[in-house]
Amino acid sequence: MKHWIDKSMSRSISSFSFFFLSVLFIVIVYSVVKLDEIGRHMREVVEVDLPLSEVIADAEMLQLKQHLLMEVIRREGVEFFENDALKKESLDGLNEYNEHFSILLEKAKGTVQKGLSMKRSEVSEEDHKELLSLIQELHHDRNHFNELANHFFEQGHQTFINHWQELERKDQELDEQAYQLLKDVNRLTTKVSSEVVSQGKEFLIVNMALVVAAFFIGIYLAYNILRMFRHKMARVRSHVDMLQRSIDDDIGNDLPGQGVSDSFTDLEQGLKNLVVQHSKKMRDHFELEKELIELATRDKLTGAYNRHKWDEQAHQSLSFGKRGNPFSMAMLDVDFFKKINDSQGHDIGDLVLQQLVKQIQETIAETDMLFRLGGEEFVVLFKGTPGEQAKQSAERLRELIEQMQHDKLPNITVSIGVTEYRAGDDIDNIVKRADTLLYKAKHEGRNQVVSG
Ligand code: GH3
Ligand code: MG
Ligand code: MG
Repeated sequence: MKHWIDKSMSRSISSFSFFFLSVLFIVIVYSVVKLDEIGRHMREVVEVDLPLSEVIADAEMLQLKQHLLMEVIRREGVEFFENDALKKESLDGLNEYNEHFSILLEKAKGTVQKGLSMKRSEVSEEDHKELLSLIQELHHDRNHFNELANHFFEQGHQTFINHWQELERKDQELDEQAYQLLKDVNRLTTKVSSEVVSQGKEFLIVNMALVVAAFFIGIYLAYNILRMFRHKMARVRSHVDMLQRSIDDDIGNDLPGQGVSDSFTDLEQGLKNLVVQHSKKMRDHFELEKELIELATRDKLTGAYNRHKWDEQAHQSLSFGKRGNPFSMAMLDVDFFKKINDSQGHDIGDLVLQQLVKQIQETIAETDMLFRLGGEEFVVLFKGTPGEQAKQSAERLRELIEQMQHDKLPNITVSIGVTEYRAGDDIDNIVKRADTLLYKAKHEGRNQVVSG
């Protein structure tokens, strides 16, 4: 049941995430498209609308200047033709205005044609064409006006009134045409700029939606990550508890639980306990293992190392010997031991052996080792010791054994054969040599050390 609920929950969470991410994706794509559109419009404004407005404003200004000039001529009346300087100045002025006007209108034409080629969505082709024809018409009328003006200057003062009226009427018409053109251009640029402003607003709204979506998605993801983390932590915690319980059962130990404030501290405490218990368990295991190994290498009766350990140590010493490190061995046997057994019993014999081992272990160096090879036969391994020094140690050992005193145990003596490692020796070799020396000690009267 719980499993099913989990599944359906995770299904609804993932569809919710999908919905959220889709919204975010759509908003991002939309804002990218919008941004591109606004950029395009801006470019059009910069390349077409602004230069066009500027050119037409200049043309309007030029028209105004011409108007002022006309006003001066009108005030002068027929006397204008008497004043040669003014006549020349006015003629030059009018020609210059005309020339300047032509340049401006050519420029305007070029700019409108450029706008036309951009295929702008917010300004129709008709608008462009209408503007173009207005410019052309103005251009044409300007030229015509200029012809009329030149003709006027060629006439004398007799025909002033007739010609002047026609010229003024034409100038008036040009004024109106220029004004109309300016109005049309303004209408067009206002249309474009209001379009850009509305798009800017739209973009702002989209961006706000983007920020809000990102905010909610951030919260949603953070919440889910936290939830997932808590869930995983609870699982780790339950595993830790399980492990701890199993260790507790195993070693019969129960570490007291601390007053935990939150799940982090709880988990940390649990892990700490686990580590402590685990290391204690490892230590116990290690010590037990060590004890078992020790037991496996010791002789049960006396506690001296056994034959198994002897084999291991003999080989190790031999390999050291081969690398130039000297070692010696003493083969040791209790004299007439059978008699002790026979006369005082086997148990006393055992006690004698234990007493003997104790004495030897107390006497030899810590690096030297005592092995019981069988019955009442022992070997002392003198590590790193040359033959002569080993012989002296064996002699001292023999003396101490002879002097051993115990209330309930008989005195004993031992015979010892001592030999050192020689190049080319193997274990059998060296043991056989020690054995022969021991036999020799027995043969020569016992209670003595023979070396060789
Ligand atoms: P020798 O001086 O020639 O060595 O004379 P010995 O009597 O000691 O002769 P031998 O070494 O051959 O005798 C060994 C005896 O040690 C034989 C056996 O009964 C006895 N023995 C062997 N193992 C044990 C043991 O674990 N406990 C006791 N009490 N006696 C043992
Ligand atoms: Mg013996
Ligand atoms: Mg013996």
